[in-house]
Amino acid sequence: MENKLNIYNTLTRRKETFEPLNPPFVGLYVCGPTVYGDAHLGHARPAITFDLVFRYLQYLGYKVRYVRNITDVGHLTNDSDDGEDKIAQKAKLERLEPMEVVQYYTNRYHKNMEQLNTLPPSIEPHASGHIIEQMELVKRILENGFAYESEGSIYFDVEAYNRKYHYGKLSGRRVEELFANTRQLDGQQEKRNPADFALWKKASPEHIMHWPSPWSEGFPGWHLECSCMSQKYLGDRFDIHGGGLDLQFPHHECEIAQSTAAYGQEAVKYWMHNNMVTINGQKMGKSLGNFITLDQLFSGDNGVLEQAYSPMTVRFFILQAHYRSPLDFSNDALKAAQKGYERLMAAVAALDKIKASPDNTADVDALATKCFDAMNDDLNTPTLISHLFDGVRLINSLAAGSEKINSANLEKLRTLYHDFTFDILGLKAETEAVGRDHEALGKVLDMVMSIRTEAKQKKDWATSDKIRDELKAAGVIVKDTKEGYEWELENA
Ligand code: ZN
Repeated sequence: MENKLNIYNTLTRRKETFEPLNPPFVGLYVCGPTVYGDAHLGHARPAITFDLVFRYLQYLGYKVRYVRNITDVGHLTNDSDDGEDKIAQKAKLERLEPMEVVQYYTNRYHKNMEQLNTLPPSIEPHASGHIIEQMELVKRILENGFAYESEGSIYFDVEAYNRKYHYGKLSGRRVEELFANTRQLDGQQEKRNPADFALWKKASPEHIMHWPSPWSEGFPGWHLECSCMSQKYLGDRFDIHGGGLDLQFPHHECEIAQSTAAYGQEAVKYWMHNNMVTINGQKMGKSLGNFITLDQLFSGDNGVLEQAYSPMTVRFFILQAHYRSPLDFSNDALKAAQKGYERLMAAVAALDKIKASPDNTADVDALATKCFDAMNDDLNTPTLISHLFDGVRLINSLAAGSEKINSANLEKLRTLYHDFTFDILGLKAETEAVGRDHEALGKVLDMVMSIRTEAKQKKDWATSDKIRDELKAAGVIVKDTKEGYEWELENA
């Protein structure tokens, strides 16, 4: 690999040169959604961030196995060891089978991900499909002395683990403070220490999702599935584990502890975390009234939104920020992203029409180097995009004839823009959106043209001419035909 990729490892807190454990193969595990509601803006960021990682690693020539799980059991309403299962709660509310809820929201999640042009993962395992493997993992951790049984539930023994290993190394939390600060919740009397977490929970009578086990009729703890399924599909040790910063503690900290307790070594070489999305400076939440689903974002059907934003506008908006920086949603920022996206796509289209010249004033190699340097510097997409916009100025000058490019450089420039825009950033032309706009415009024109016909019938030439002239000024060319009329846009 000629291009040396550097990525920031959350575990070591520094940028490291990416060296896969077993090149050219790369194992990539990303925590996926808990499927009990529609995907929202918060889901789009990790999906697009790790789609970028997946795409770029493949572009560099690696063979990537990308595993992203579906959480469909064990994730409780308070993200802790008490409360109701999020899927089961929804199922009761809607009078559905839990697996109906799972299927319904998984389908909708997939549709949204396709709209955002994220590539599907290589494997998408469900937690509920790996109950046996999760029980095996619990047994291993018990055998190794890092878990204990209490009232039919199995808890991870953080204190015992921390005597041998280091609990808190990923999040930087201090165990003494965790032991002292974790608030007492109902049911915690079962635990030896408030920092302990459930590997297996005995199901209460009203709990509808449960399986038989040596300890009780119950269900796995939320953190267990990721330790289990990453090991099953990527091995005891694999390259990259990703997820949102909100999962760093406790979810990922617990994953590290579970895998280390079971296999005696850490599973993950590089931990990557994307930062969060805020809305007008506030955390997004249903209680705050600023909760925006992706469907609402694409249709504009939400009070926070001044208009609809297309999937590619949303994708471009997310890529315009570095994945480790916070990203604030606002209508102004989205509108700016829409303009930026359209400007980039217009330049890529214009590039195909530019003709080569015997002379050359364009330095394509220098531009390409800058673009790769940006990506190799911890996937710095904002810097990459600013270089691509420098190139847009070049493309516009070439189109205007004020700069010249020879055929070899023109080929390089086209390849550069196609590779970065489509393959790496994963943008695409939004023909569907254009089609919809075209259809809507056609209906408006039918109405306007019927008014013009009426005016003509009344010999109201002033109105008839006015309509024709105004349409022309707006860039709509209308021709009368025997059947009625034909129209086209001036620049299309
Ligand atoms: Zn996970």
